[in-house]
Amino acid sequence: MRTRLLIVFFLMSTFLNSEENFGIVVHGGAGVMSGLSEETRSQINAKIKESVSEAFLILENGGSSIDAVEKAVTILEDSPLFNAGRGSVYSSDEVQEMDASIMDGKKRLAGAVASVSIVKNPIKLARKVAEETDHVLLVGDGAEAFAKNAGIEIVDSSYFYHEERLQRVRNLKKNVSKFYKKSDKIGTVGAVALDKMGNISAATSTGGMTNKLPGRVGDSPIIGSGTWAQNGVCGVSSTGHGEYFIKYQVAREVCIRMEYLNQSLSKSSSSIINELADIGGSGGLIAIDSKGNISTPFNTKGMIRGSQTNKKELSSEIY
Ligand code: ASP
Repeated sequence: MRTRLLIVFFLMSTFLNSEENFGIVVHGGAGVMSGLSEETRSQINAKIKESVSEAFLILENGGSSIDAVEKAVTILEDSPLFNAGRGSVYSSDEVQEMDASIMDGKKRLAGAVASVSIVKNPIKLARKVAEETDHVLLVGDGAEAFAKNAGIEIVDSSYFYHEERLQRVRNLKKNVSKFYKKSDKIGTVGAVALDKMGNISAATSTGGMTNKLPGRVGDSPIIGSGTWAQNGVCGVSSTGHGEYFIKYQVAREVCIRMEYLNQSLSKSSSSIINELADIGGSGGLIAIDSKGNISTPFNTKGMIRGSQTNKKELSSEIY
């Protein structure tokens, strides 16, 4: 009788605990972060906190993780402080080409867009691709035509204009003989969330890398590289030198090591980021597991990040 009672108590506490845990973690890119003035740092921290707390409110009210990550990323895309949506970096022909992806770990629903230049919020378009087409990834003109039909807000490309980032690509072009040998990798944005129903979602949005070749697509819209969400295991959003994150399938790899090697989220995610550093792949990632644990490893000097869970207060950090 006593054993039975203990078992019932154990099962109830596991159920209640897993049902109650929820949280959100966001990033605003990994990189050197050395030239940031105090004013810019405080603007970044304020925007990250706004993004986290708006998404947290959705989760607290019983909303879904996919709504939470879409909201968090939209707020960051609307800010010129980050390399996503407004304020995206420029390619070598001085065009802003944006990539984004979103994934819901409940049914592995995934959508992505690449090389779009007139879509105000690429993350919203990625979600439409996931929910309203039979496809996962749409690119360029086709993605923009779909956006118009799907009622997604279209803007003139001048909406994304950012003087300092334009000067940066012009300077880089003067100084380097090969494209993207020396590039700026700061400012991609992403979010991962666990909701009260145990669903995990992830989202990533970027302008890519400064001075990239026209048409270059990085890891951010590649499911399994820049974004991954898998209920019961983990959710990940990556940032950094995208070519490495594609070749090492970083986002998915975090969950694979947890699933098959029984590693903790922290061990799995930090070992991958350390391994990337050894081969020259700079960057970081944010991740959440099915219990609401968070991990934010990076091998660069800084990574803009913030989080809040039912157990952990709102925070924002850069270094
Ligand atoms: N991963 C992005 C890309 O390669 C850039 C970044 O995260 O900063 O396009």
